[in-house]
Amino acid sequence: MTDVSTSLIQAAYIVAALLFIMSLAGLSRHETARDGNVLGMVGMGIALVATLWLALRDAPWGNAVAVAVAMAIGAAIGIWRARRVEMTGMPELIAMLHSFVGAAAVLVGLNTFLASDGVGDSVHLVEIFLGVFIGAVTFTGSIVAFLKLSARISSKPLMLPARHWLNLAALVVSAGLLVWFVAGHSLVPLLLMTAIALAFGWHLVASIGGGDMPVVVSMLNSYSGWAAAAAGFMLGNDLLIVTGALVGSSGAYLSYIMCTAMNRSFVSVIAGGFGSDGAVSDSDVDYGDHRETTAAEVAELLKNASSVVITPGYGMAVAQAQYPVAELTSKLRERGVDVRFGIHPVAGRLPGHMNVLLAEARVPYDIVLEMDEINDDFPDTDVVLVIGANDTVNPAAAEDPTSPIAGMPVLQVWNAKDVVVFKRSMNAGYAGVQNPLFFRDNSAMLFGDAKERVEDIIKAL
Ligand code: NDP
Repeated sequence: MTDVSTSLIQAAYIVAALLFIMSLAGLSRHETARDGNVLGMVGMGIALVATLWLALRDAPWGNAVAVAVAMAIGAAIGIWRARRVEMTGMPELIAMLHSFVGAAAVLVGLNTFLASDGVGDSVHLVEIFLGVFIGAVTFTGSIVAFLKLSARISSKPLMLPARHWLNLAALVVSAGLLVWFVAGHSLVPLLLMTAIALAFGWHLVASIGGGDMPVVVSMLNSYSGWAAAAAGFMLGNDLLIVTGALVGSSGAYLSYIMCTAMNRSFVSVIAGGFGSDGAVSDSDVDYGDHRETTAAEVAELLKNASSVVITPGYGMAVAQAQYPVAELTSKLRERGVDVRFGIHPVAGRLPGHMNVLLAEARVPYDIVLEMDEINDDFPDTDVVLVIGANDTVNPAAAEDPTSPIAGMPVLQVWNAKDVVVFKRSMNAGYAGVQNPLFFRDNSAMLFGDAKERVEDIIKAL
C-alpha cells in the first residue's frame, strides 16, 4: 500500500511540476496570463494534497490535527490579507510574503540540523548552511523592501562608510563559518552565520536607492525561490526543489530584464548598489515656472487631436483611475482619435503593474505598447496624457548625466506637441528626483486626483 501511495505522490509531483512550467509559459503573454494563473493554482492544489498525504501518511493523529490547525490559521490570515489589499499595496504584500519564504528556510534549516543531532554527511551540512544563509538574507532583505515600498522608511540608499567592504567581510566570514560548521558539526557557526546573514540581507537592500527598487523586488523574488529550493534539498522534497528552481531562475531572468530596461548593471544591483555613488535628489535646482491647465482646456485639446498617447504611472494605480481612463479611451476612439498607451517597464510598483490595471479596465491589448515600441512615435503625437507617472517620463534621465536616474531609458513624452501631466502637486516621484518635464513650454499641469480629473474631462467632452 505504501509503495502504491509513494508512486502516486511522485506522479502527482511530476504533474504539478509540469503545470508550474505551463503556468510560467502562460504568464508570459497578456492573452494567456489568466490561463497561466489557473494552471499554477491547479498545480499548487495537487502539490499541496500530495505533500500533505506524504507528511501525514504514517503520522500520529495529533500531528495531523496540529498541521490542520496551522494551515487553517495561515489560510485565514492569507485570505483576509489578500481580500483587503489594495492594488497599490501589492508590492509590499509580495515583499512581505518573500520574507516568509526566507524565514521558513531558516527554520527548516535549523530544525533539520537539530533533529539530526549534528549527524550527517558534508553535502547535507552544506545544504543546511546555504539554505539558512539564503533564507536569512531573503528574510531581512524582504523586510527592508517592505518598509521602503510602504514608505515606512525612506527610499534613499543607506550609505555606510566602507559599505562594500562590510558586504565582502560578511561573505568571507560566512565562508569561514561554513568550514567550521562542516568540520565541527556544531550549532555555534550556524547561529553566528545566521546573525551575519540577517544583517547582510538588511544592509544589501537598505543600500539600494529608490530608483533601483524594481530590480530588488524581482531579485528578492528570485532569492525566495532559491531559499525554497534549498529547503527542498534539506527536506528531501523533489517538488520543492523544482518549484524553487523555477521561481529562482525566472526571478533572476526578470531581474536581468528589469536591469536592461533601466540600463543598470545587474551585478551592481545584486551587490547592494556596488559601483554607484548613491547620488541623491536634485530638488534644489530651479527649472523656472510651470503652467497649469483645466479639465475643460484638456477636453478641447483632445477634441482637436488626431493622435493621443497615454502614459500611466503609479499615480493611476493610487487614484484607481484606470476605469475612467478606459472610458475616455473608448470615447476618443469613437470620435476617430488614434489612442494608444505607452508602458514603461518599471511604471508603478510591480513588474507589469500598469498592464494589469489596464487589463482589469478592459483596455484592448493591441493599443497597449511597450516603451520601445512607442518612443519613436512621440514626435508625431498631438497630445500625451501623463497619468500619475513621474520618474518614467523624466527627461533628466536622458539629458542630465548627474541625475540619480541618469541612463535609465524613459518614455520621451516631451517630444510630443502637447503634454498634460495629471498629478496632485509638484512633488517628486519615487526616486525623489525633480522632473524638468513639468517646466517645459509644451507641458501643462492638471492638478488633482487623477480619477476625478479624467472624469471631469469625460464630462467636458
Ligand atoms: P512615480 O512613483 O515616479 O510617480 C508617481 C506620481 O503619481 C507621483 O509623482 C505623484 O505625484 C502622482 N500621484 C500619486 N497619487 C496620485 C493621484 N491620486 N492622482 C494623481 N497623481 C497621483 O511613478 P512612475 O510610475 O512614473 O515610476 C515608478 C517608480 O517606482 C520608478 O522610480 C521605479 O523605479 C519605482 N519602482 C518601480 C517598481 C516596479 O516594479 N515597477 C518597484 C519599486 C519601485 P503627486 O504626489 O504630486 O500627486
